[in-house]
Amino acid sequence: MGRFLWLSCLLLFTACKGGSGEGTYARARERMVREQIEARGVKDSLVSAAMRKVPRHLFVPERHRGEAYADYPLPIGHGQTISQPYIVAYMTEALGLKGDEKVLEIGTGSGYQAAVLAEIVDSVFTIEIIPELARSAEKRLKALGYRNVFVRCGDGYKGWPEHAPFDAIIVTAAPDHIPQPLVDQLKVGGRMVIPIGNVFQQLVLIIKREKEVEKRPLLPVRFVPMRGEAQKRSRP
Ligand code: SAH
Repeated sequence: MGRFLWLSCLLLFTACKGGSGEGTYARARERMVREQIEARGVKDSLVSAAMRKVPRHLFVPERHRGEAYADYPLPIGHGQTISQPYIVAYMTEALGLKGDEKVLEIGTGSGYQAAVLAEIVDSVFTIEIIPELARSAEKRLKALGYRNVFVRCGDGYKGWPEHAPFDAIIVTAAPDHIPQPLVDQLKVGGRMVIPIGNVFQQLVLIIKREKEVEKRPLLPVRFVPMRGEAQKRSRP
């Protein structure tokens, strides 16, 4: 009887491990990259490699770990969400990164997008307006060994002038207009990807030229609204 009980426990333990162990997550991640990202046209190998590496399940609340690699956004607390994997990959690819860039992100959230960027570029400066999220993302990124990500709590509408200009800017909360401070903090030749709009938003690629700012519409998207200054200056 004792031996039977022991064997049952062992089997149960192995089964549980099989369902949520690192190997299972790694397989789910590989499938995510193949089926949700590469199959939909993301071609940049730097982006695929980064998405293959970052353990997304460690950026979502424990009760959602089993769905971490699913094809949709997930709640991360405080009414905020971690974006769908495809959107993270698509926006990262749109920045056209080579590897030596300094990137600004607005809307740290879980820190996942920042980690994906950190796998590719030289340094990532990321701003989060909710103090608890900024703190937990910073802790998580540090624990995972990301030394090239710098988290700040504050209103990203104003950018991070002390570290400007940036080679690229990625905005993951939606204002209804393009924040001028972010355009000002972008290098000439630099790219910014930003969702613009209220309920219905358009992802826009901005390329800063010497004398003008080029705007290219990309995809219809759904992000949480940008808070703070963006709402004060919201256009009716
Ligand atoms: N990039 C995140 C997901 C972003 S969710 C990830 O990978 O998990 C959008 C985040 O933007 C939320 O955490 C929200 O609190 C934050 N946010 C909203 N308005 C902001 C502002 N003005 N400045 C900085 N962060 C802001």
